[in-house]
Amino acid sequence: MSDAAPDMQDLYRELVIDHSRNPRHFGRLEDATHTADGINPLCGDKLRLYFRVDASGTIESSSFEGSGCAISIASASLLTEAVTGLEVDDAKSCSATISTRLTTAAPYANLDAHLENLKALDGVRAYPSRVKCATLAWHALQAALTNDTQPATTE
Ligand code: ZN
Repeated sequence: MSDAAPDMQDLYRELVIDHSRNPRHFGRLEDATHTADGINPLCGDKLRLYFRVDASGTIESSSFEGSGCAISIASASLLTEAVTGLEVDDAKSCSATISTRLTTAAPYANLDAHLENLKALDGVRAYPSRVKCATLAWHALQAALTNDTQPATTE
């Protein structure tokens, strides 16, 4: 029996694998109020995100569909879990936080408790070519919530 602390990197790696194999909220959301496509031509990831925002500006439900590599799918799946229940403005700032976190060399800031699982994406910083896979869904979230009609692209 070992009393060693679990290796957090391993836990997060498993979380990414789990979300890529069993994506949460996968499929079309019939009564969506906001949708956006995201395309990452470098990898071939194509996602469509759906959100239903209620009259008070809260994201009631989220879903996504599409195809892509494990990182892009896991990131979209984690996104739908993280932003459901958030106010639109909070979801947008969450998107900005994650994009900054993955694309700059700045030290990690703490994440709010409900975003804790998004630390699972931190590992892609070591693989610059995969960062766009991880940020794709977040670009699409931003586009959906600002009613941007152009597909979000990582290019
Ligand atoms: Zn990809």
